[in-house]
Amino acid sequence: MRKYFGTVCLLGAALLVLPTRGLPQQEAAGVAAPVLRYEIWVELDAAGKMLLGKEEIVWTNPSREAVPDMLLHLYWNAFKNEESAFLREARAESMFGRGRAPEEGEWGWIDVTDIRLADGTDLKSGLIFATPDGPEHPDDQTVVRILFPEPVQPGESVRLQLEFRSKIPRTVSRSGYYKNSFFIAQWFPKPGVYEEGKGWNAHAYHQNSEFFADFADFVVHITVPRDFVIGSSGKQTDVRVDESVKKTTYTYRQSMVHDFAWMADPRYLKVEREFIADKEVTLEEYRETADLLGLPLEEVKLPDVKMTLLIAPEHERQIERHFRALRAAIKYYGLWYGPYPYETVTMVDPPYRTRSGGMEYPTLFTAGTQVLTSTDILSPEGVIVHEFGHGYWYGLVANNEFEAAWLDEGFNTYSTGRVMARAYGPGALPLVFKGVPLAWLLRMPKSFDFELDRVAAINTVRYDPVTAWSWRFYNGGSYGANVYMRAATLLRTLEGVLGEQTWARIMRTYHMGYRYKHPGKAEFIGVVNEAAGKDMTWFFDELFDSTQAFDYGVAEVASIKVPRARRGVFEVKGIREEMTSKKIKELDAAEAKSPEAKTKSEYLTTVVLRRYGEARVRGDAQVKVLVRFKDGTTETRIWDGQARWTRLEFVKPVEVESAQVDPEGVWLIDANLANNSRGVDGLRRNVVKLLTQLLFTVQNLLQFVSSLS
Ligand SMILES: [Zn+2]
Repeated sequence: MRKYFGTVCLLGAALLVLPTRGLPQQEAAGVAAPVLRYEIWVELDAAGKMLLGKEEIVWTNPSREAVPDMLLHLYWNAFKNEESAFLREARAESMFGRGRAPEEGEWGWIDVTDIRLADGTDLKSGLIFATPDGPEHPDDQTVVRILFPEPVQPGESVRLQLEFRSKIPRTVSRSGYYKNSFFIAQWFPKPGVYEEGKGWNAHAYHQNSEFFADFADFVVHITVPRDFVIGSSGKQTDVRVDESVKKTTYTYRQSMVHDFAWMADPRYLKVEREFIADKEVTLEEYRETADLLGLPLEEVKLPDVKMTLLIAPEHERQIERHFRALRAAIKYYGLWYGPYPYETVTMVDPPYRTRSGGMEYPTLFTAGTQVLTSTDILSPEGVIVHEFGHGYWYGLVANNEFEAAWLDEGFNTYSTGRVMARAYGPGALPLVFKGVPLAWLLRMPKSFDFELDRVAAINTVRYDPVTAWSWRFYNGGSYGANVYMRAATLLRTLEGVLGEQTWARIMRTYHMGYRYKHPGKAEFIGVVNEAAGKDMTWFFDELFDSTQAFDYGVAEVASIKVPRARRGVFEVKGIREEMTSKKIKELDAAEAKSPEAKTKSEYLTTVVLRRYGEARVRGDAQVKVLVRFKDGTTETRIWDGQARWTRLEFVKPVEVESAQVDPEGVWLIDANLANNSRGVDGLRRNVVKLLTQLLFTVQNLLQFVSSLS
C-alpha cells in the first residue's frame, strides 16, 4: 500500500506517515508447482452492487502432516458490521464514534452458500467462523474453518467446489464501489497458508494489516454488463459477448501469483503500450549492472512487458506521465532485483471515491492522481513506482504481511526511493490543500524520498519495533512510519555500512533466491551475513527489533595551549622549588627567542563524544570521528561506542577547528544529525541541509495547512 502524507505532528511527536509466456524457462525449471489452483466464475450485478460467484479450489497438502481442516479467508465480512476486527480496531483508533464504518445500507459481506468436495460431499454444515488471533474479536467473520471428512494426506490434493454471494461494500478500504465504478479485491474465499508444524496461517482482516497467501494458478471468468471496461490481474485469454442478456464474459489466466483483483467501470479509457527492453536499457546499463552484481550479462537482460492503463477520462492528459513512471519501475526493479517474470502489468487509475488507490495486487496495481497536478511534485509517479514495486516484494518474495509487513513495505519504500532518485531526481513535497498542490502557491523545497523517510523514522522509534505484527502497532501512524519509513531508513543505513556492491548483491540474491517463496526475517539476515562475510544479526536486534534511538554525537571540542611547565612545588635534583607563573613566562620568553620557537608551542585538544541514544553499534562496527585542525590537518579516531561517553585527547602544534562523528554519513538512522559535528566555536558544521531547511519547511507548511482547514 502507498504511504501517504497525513496529519503530522513533528518534532517530539510522531510524523505520521506523510503518506502465456508464463514463467521464463530458466525459472520454471526451479519452481515447484503451486500448492493451489483456482477456477472462478464471477458475475457483477452492477445495479444491485452484488457479486455472484462459483469457485473451484484444488489444494495440495505441501507438508509431511495429515491435515484435517482448512482455514479460508472471507475478507469482505470485515465490512459486514461493527463487530468485525477491522471496524473495532478502526473505532478504537479513531475514538470518534464510528471510525471508518460504512453508512447505513452500504455494508459489504460475503456468504459461502454452498461448499462441497468434488464427489459431492456437502461440507457446509461443518463451516464455523474462526478467531485465529485470539478472543478479542469474538464476532469477527473474516476467517472460516472447514472440516474435511477425512484428513488430507501429505502430497494429496483436495478439490473444493464453492458458491458464494457477496454484497460489494461502499468502500471502507481497498474494495468497493462508487456509482457505477467498481474495484474488486480480496473478494473470493481464499485458503490461508499451511505451515508444517504450525498449521494454518490465516489471520483476521485487521485495520493495520495486509495479506498472506500461497502461490497459485488462476483462471477467472468475469461477467459484467456489456458496456463496462474492465481491467484485471493476469492475461486476458477469451471474451464472449451474450447479446441476449447484454453481458460480456472475460477470461483471465495467470500462473504463480497469490492474489487476483479486477475493476470495472463503463466510462474508463483503456490504453495499451509495450515495454520494449531494448529501447529502455542500453548495453552500457546492462554491463554496469552485470559488473555490480557479478553476474553474466545474459542474466541481467530484461524481457518485454505488455503494459495496460485504465484511466478515468478526466485524467486523460496524464497518460504519458503514468507510462513514463511505469517504464522506469519495470526497468530499475528489473535491473537491480531480477527480470519481471510475468507477461502483463495493469495499472489502474483508481475509480473516484472508492478508496482503492495506491494498492498492489499481482500483475495489477492502483495508482492515484487528481485533476490538478504540478510537474514539480512527483505524483502520481511515486505511487506508480511504489505499487509496481510491490510486485517484486509482496508479489514475488511473498513474506507474511500480517506478521512482518516491513519485509514488503520497508523493502519497497527503500526501493521506490532509489528508483525515483535515479529516474527523476528530487521532488517537491507532495502536499495538497483542497485539491490544489501547495507547490502552486509556495516554492516548495525539493527532497529525496530517503530524506523524508528518515524524518518519519527518527520520530517514531519509541512507539514500536519495526518487526511487530501489523495490527499490534500503537496506531496507524506508528505502523506506517515504522514499517515503511523506519525500515527503509535502516535498509539504507545498512547499505552504507556494508557498501554499495555488497548491498546490491545482497538484495539481488535475496530477491532471486526467495522468488515464489515465503521468507521471513531470518532468511534475509542469512543472506546479509553470507554476503557480508560477518554476523550482522546485531544490526537487526539493535535497530529493527528494538525501540531504541540511535544517536552518537560530539559534546565538547576545545584546545588549550600546553604550558611550558606546570605551577606548584617540585623537587628538582633534590631541591624543593616552586614554579610560579612568572617563571613560566620567563621560560616562554626564552623559548620565543630561539629560532625554532614557532614549532615549540603545543596545544592539547579534547574532544568528548557521547552516546545519546540507547542503541549501540556492535560487531565490528565502530564510531568513527574525524577531527579537523586549523592548519588543515585531520586525525581520525575510532571509538567502540559502548560507553555513554568517551574523551579523546590530541597534542599537536595547532588548535582544533571541529570534530565530526560518522564523517561519511553512513548512519542515516542517527536521530540527531545536528550533534554529529561541532566546531571549536560551538557552531555545528557539516549538518545535513535537510535538517534545518526541510524540517522547518514541513513544520510550517503543516501549521499553515491546519490553519486553513
Ligand atoms: Zn506499499
